[in-house]
Formats: sequence, structure tokens, C-alpha cells
Amino acid sequence: MAKEDVFKNLIAHCKEYGFIFQSSEIYDGLSAVYDYGQNGVELKNNIKKYWWDSMILLNENVVGLDSAIFMHPKTWKASGHVDAFNDPLIDNKDSKKRYRADDLIEEHLEKLEAKIEKEVEKARKRFGDSFDEKLFRETNTRVIANKEKYDELDRRFVKAMNNNDLADLKQIILDYEIVCPISGTRNWTDVRQFNLMFATEMGSTAEGSMKIFLRPETAQGIFVNYINVQKTGRMKLPFGIAQIGKAFRNEIVARQFIFRMREFEQMEMQYFIKPGTEEEWFEYWKNVRMKWHKALGLGDENYRFFDHEKLAHYARAATDIEFKFPFGFREVEGIHSRTDFDLGQHQKFSGKKLQYFDPETNESFVPYVVETSLGLDRIFLQIISAAFHEEEIKKENGEADTRVVFKLPPVLAPVKLAILPLVKKDGLPEISRKIMNDLKYDFNCQYEEKDSIGRRYRRQDAIGTPYCITIDHQTTEDNTVTIRYRDSMEQDRVRVDKLRSIIADKVDMSSLLKKLDKIED
Ligand code: ATP
Repeated sequence: MAKEDVFKNLIAHCKEYGFIFQSSEIYDGLSAVYDYGQNGVELKNNIKKYWWDSMILLNENVVGLDSAIFMHPKTWKASGHVDAFNDPLIDNKDSKKRYRADDLIEEHLEKLEAKIEKEVEKARKRFGDSFDEKLFRETNTRVIANKEKYDELDRRFVKAMNNNDLADLKQIILDYEIVCPISGTRNWTDVRQFNLMFATEMGSTAEGSMKIFLRPETAQGIFVNYINVQKTGRMKLPFGIAQIGKAFRNEIVARQFIFRMREFEQMEMQYFIKPGTEEEWFEYWKNVRMKWHKALGLGDENYRFFDHEKLAHYARAATDIEFKFPFGFREVEGIHSRTDFDLGQHQKFSGKKLQYFDPETNESFVPYVVETSLGLDRIFLQIISAAFHEEEIKKENGEADTRVVFKLPPVLAPVKLAILPLVKKDGLPEISRKIMNDLKYDFNCQYEEKDSIGRRYRRQDAIGTPYCITIDHQTTEDNTVTIRYRDSMEQDRVRVDKLRSIIADKVDMSSLLKKLDKIED
């Protein structure tokens, strides 16, 4: 099945099984805003817990924070968001569709890259084992020509973005004959800057009200609380503050389901350090964060780093962790070396000292910051896209069948255990309820007695439940049940009193956190 079809099926699946709904659907929806349903919210909470525990439990010097969404408007002047949190916007006059000019150019770059990779793959097939990829890339004329085109465009693009040269961005679009995907024409408007912050009013009267912004990132709530946390927690450098919370961006083009939303959630950690140690900590957090992703077991080959050449106004170095979504490699997390830009700016705009006194050297200074910034909705999408499988299987009678299964990491699955009495009589529901009452304090369990066992298994596969147990007549005799494993569909007979430890082994958060130490650099 084509990748686009799989992605469409995934979106439909998320709705059908209560993971994600379009916001305000009964009013035909609100673009790029989504609600998480009964299973989605469980999965989301589990992802949050994995991130939170990995930050707070595993790092003695990282503490949490929950700051408000509304902040004093000066915050955003100081942070640079009022003046510089813009995306370059362009309209196609024929289709009346709006695009980000940088996205159009990046897509063109991706096409050139794809052409090169296609040549390489073709040659790999042709030459088999004797294929020397490096030599081929250096000598094949078509590859060389496309690589030159790519490098030239990339250089010009980075320069235009760094210089905020909107006229050249438009010229690039014209020179490279980039067309509107809808109208197919090159009838473009000029490129304009568009600020992504949502504004609203605080206060009851028109005269007395103040224009405030919905935060476009959670980080600033951490910076303005730096001194509060440092003093009250008696924190010594280096130390980190972690926060999970909503952020809002009026994205020009909202696409790809929950990948780019106008209201989303971030999990950010700002690590305060001594100036001069930023390179070391940047490398350290790059490594730690990549391990966190890999421990989920979604396939190491699906990750890569992408180093930024165009840096945000605050950054000295920046890299993205990219994941291979069904629509290609895309950013899920940013790791940024932010210097003393943010604290320095807030110190300037507030007139309050935001310094650290180092008792060892008797010096005061504004700390530097390395940030890790992960989009909760994007990691959610990453996990469900990797977990979604439409499989051909065989029924017990040998007939061909298909099943849709969410192979979610067991720790993150919304429901850990489904408790299924074989029939609705002979005391089996009562025994099942008793098992449920015993285990419900440890795991999210679901009791189901409707429909055949096969159909009940399918429903649990579809929401990613790692374990199902079936209570049958034998249970009444020897207190054993059948346990069925989601991925292999294999079944074992086990004693009821062994269930807790069998299940806990795979679904306790600690099992995932412990994996982090075992992942190689
Ligand atoms: P992009 O280039 O995709 O717009 P960004 O570089 O602006 O992202 P950051 O400002 O670094 O993103 O934000 C940190 C993280 O927040 C991103 O890595 C992403 O996971 C998440 N994020 C940013 N914008 C959105 C959005 N509109 N919807 C969902 N998640 C987002």
C-alpha cells in the first residue's frame, strides 16, 4: 500500500478507536486543532510520564515547573518574539493558497536530494555487491550535476533566510521555477513576514485592557522563573528546569495531521550552565535525548540529527532530532545552545538581576543555557506511525485474514491488560471481575464480555493492548488463565497469581527508564 494511503488509514484509525478527534467536529472542525480521545489521552499521559521521569527522576539536578500560559507582554518583547517570531509567507494568486516560502524551497531541495538517492539506488541494484557508493557519488555525472544544483540552492537559501532577504526568497522561487502544487502556476505574490503569535486582551474595559499573547513556547516561563527556582531550590550550576505545557502558534500552513498544529504541547528543559561549557553540554544533551528516543524501540534507522545552518535569533548552535514519518524525515525535537541571550534580555527588560554567584570563584555572571525542546504531539505522531500495522494473518481454521494492530511500546499503551471471560455465564464474569479488582491498582485494565473472543482480541490489538487474558472453565478448576501476547499472538497458560509480575515486567515505566543506560552512544 502507498505510504499516503497508510497515513490516511492511520488518521481514520485514530478517530475510530478514540485516539484523536478533530476539534469542534460537529461544527465542521477547527483547522489544525485536535482533541485527544479516551485512548489518546492515556497514551499522551504515558508519553509525558516517560519524559518527565527521565528528566526529574534520573537527573538529581533537574527540577520541574508549571508556569502560566499568559505572561507579561514585555516577556515577548525581551525574548525577541514580537520582532522576530515570523515565517515568510507567499500566496499563489491563481489558487489563492498560502504557503511558507521557506517550505516551498525546502521541498524543492528535498526533490533534488530524492533524485540523487534514486540514481544511487538504481546503481546499487545494477552493480550488486561490487557497488562502491562513495566512488559512484563522486563520479556519476547526473549525481554530480544534481548535487551542485542542491548545494548552490542551499547556500542561496540559507543566506536569504539569515539576512531576512524576502525579495531574494521570492527570486529563488521564481528562478527555480517552483510552482503552486494546486494551480501548477508561478503566479506568486511578494514574500511577507507573518508573526506567529496569537494575541488577546486581558482586563475588562477597552481602555484598561492590555494586549497579551498566548505563549508560543513554554521556555520563557522557565527563564522568568530562573531566579525563583535557583534561590528557593538552592540550585547550583549546572542545573535544569523542565516543564510540560501548551503552546500556541498561528501556523501559516497547518498540515500532516497533528504534526503542525495551532495549539500544541511542548516538553522543554532548560539547562543552566557556566559560560564556556556550552559545547560540552550541547553534545551531552544531544546524546541523552537521542537515547531517550531510541529506547522506545521504533527502529534506530528511523532517526537522524539535522544540524541547523540558519540559526534562530537566540541560538549559537542548534540541531534537530528527526524521525522518519510516513511523509519523510521531519523534526520532532530541537536541541539549542541559547547562550545567555534569554536571561540577558530579561535582565535588561525587567531591570532585575538574573545572575548566578559562583561560590568557588566568587564571581557573578548570567548563566548560559542549553535547551531540549520536544513537541508532545509530534512524538505522539512518531509513536503511532511506527506502531501502526495492517497485517495479513491466518485464522485458527487456516483462512486468510487481516488485522490492524498498534504495536505501541507496552509501557505507553493506553490499556495494559484486557480481561475477557470466555462466556457471560458459569461464574466466569465474577472471576474476571475479581482479577480486575485485584489488578486495577497496578495497571489500566479493561473488562470486556461482548462478542466473540476473536473480535475482542482484534479490538484490543487496534488500541495496542499488550496483554489479553481469557478466563474459561478451566480457570474455575485450577486458577489459570490464557494470556495472549499482542505482537506474536501467541498464548500461554499461566497462574492468576503470576499475572502481576508477568505484566509489570514489560509495562512498568521503570523498565523503559532502565533501558536508557543500555543504549549505546
Ligand atoms: P518547525 O520548523 O517544524 O516549525 P520549530 O523549529 O519552529 O519547528 P521549535 O520552535 O524548535 O520548532 O519548537 C520545538 C518543538 O516543538 C519542535 O521540535 C516540535 O516538536 C514542536 N512544535 C513546534 N511547532 C509545532 C506545531 N505547530 N505543532 C506541533 N508541534 C510543534
